[in-house]
Amino acid sequence: MVLTLRVAIARISHETNTFSTVKTALDDYNPCYGEDIFQVYGGTRTEVGGFIDVLRAKDVGIVPTIAASATPSGPINRRDFEFMMETIVKGIHGTGKVDGVLLSLHGAMVAEGIPEAEGTLLQKVRQLVGSSIPVICTLDLHAMVSEIMTENVNAVFGFETNPHIDQYERGVEAAGMMVSTLTGTAHPVVALKKLPMMPPTINMRTTEGPMVQLFNEAREMESREEVINVSVFGGFPYADVERVGSSVVVVTDGDMELAKQLSTDLGGVLWSLRKEFLKDLVSVENAVDRAVRAAEGPIILADVADNPGGGAPGDGTVILRALLEKDVENVGLAAIKDPEAVERAIETGVRGTLRMKIGGKTDKLHGEPVEVCGQVRTITDGRFIHKAMRRGLTANVGRTAVLEVKGIEIILTEKSHAPNDPEIFRRNGIEPFDKTILVLKSRGHFRAAYEPFSKEVIEVDAPGLTSPNLTLFEYQRIPRPIWPLDDL
Ligand SMILES: [Zn+2]
Repeated sequence: MVLTLRVAIARISHETNTFSTVKTALDDYNPCYGEDIFQVYGGTRTEVGGFIDVLRAKDVGIVPTIAASATPSGPINRRDFEFMMETIVKGIHGTGKVDGVLLSLHGAMVAEGIPEAEGTLLQKVRQLVGSSIPVICTLDLHAMVSEIMTENVNAVFGFETNPHIDQYERGVEAAGMMVSTLTGTAHPVVALKKLPMMPPTINMRTTEGPMVQLFNEAREMESREEVINVSVFGGFPYADVERVGSSVVVVTDGDMELAKQLSTDLGGVLWSLRKEFLKDLVSVENAVDRAVRAAEGPIILADVADNPGGGAPGDGTVILRALLEKDVENVGLAAIKDPEAVERAIETGVRGTLRMKIGGKTDKLHGEPVEVCGQVRTITDGRFIHKAMRRGLTANVGRTAVLEVKGIEIILTEKSHAPNDPEIFRRNGIEPFDKTILVLKSRGHFRAAYEPFSKEVIEVDAPGLTSPNLTLFEYQRIPRPIWPLDDL
């Protein structure tokens, strides 16, 4: 290995729900810069953790630029997006020549006035480094991949799991391919097959449903020597932009015809399975009834339509209200974003009684604020270390209070948070798996850590910005016709 090789690394990650009224700014990304990236991401089970491990093992110099990721929400303002792009550009420029660029991206990011956020970034990086320097990226399984993205990279590695527990492994693969490309042992080329389909994200898990067959076929294609990687992208339907939709991306070693052929073939399978992505949910009333009557817990009520992991505010009250109308006990709810309630709980103090309206304050789509009276149980700073997905990375959900109301322990947070890691409960004094009912504001990533311990998962049809019922959204910019909005 030549010791002088140097690769720039960056992460900019956001899944943008363009229907959200919550704008996203730079601070929401918890950005870290330069050498700090080693401190924050080194040793974590993330894409950047994978980049760092491989490049160090191969004695490749690392040029760290920026690593920034925000909880899904509305579009990021243009100025902050441009600042993040500039930070990468300056990072590459400032150190003189780099031999390659590795990017950890989501693929469903939208900035104000820039619907093609990742495409714009990749194009800019390509223009900067020229065509002879490899640019390789990782993408989320929910990426909305476009041609401008694939035309400006040498290879793409999409997550192969949902819940996404392979972030580190994909980072390792991408960095490994970077090294192979730099040493001339691989010459990756990329083909994209985009489909006129925009399924809801509710049935995109890789352990059941249509993704099982798709990823099996992808693995089979990858067993061919000339095939480097096959990614299946379900896409993200809560973005009113032209590049929505599912896709297949195939990377081969120098054989563009084969890449095109395989992406078309697997795209055909994806299209033929489209109806299997749809799923019936359980009404709020039936779901709560079923959970209350269950002989054994924990029963998980998944509030899939108010999933902060997809850009919803995480302050919906509809399921909470239904539970309060029943005689329940031993229920845990994570989490309701309500900074005002957190403030009041802190003023009230642990063991004090708090009466106020909580939740339903971001917009009119997630139920009215609900009047509660309960005891403050715990107060924390809302920081904890992930032990499930993104293991090792620190979460910060803002100051946090637990309010116990009629047998329901409600976690109140300052920031929106999808409780995919049970640490959110434990950090706040609750053992989630001892609960009879757990209400989780999450679409599906919670399953990795919770499903082995739960008796049943009920996906609840409450209202919200991540409802699988796409007819509730007023699309104006997506290409039509598109399935399932149009009968294709
Ligand atoms: Zn995803």
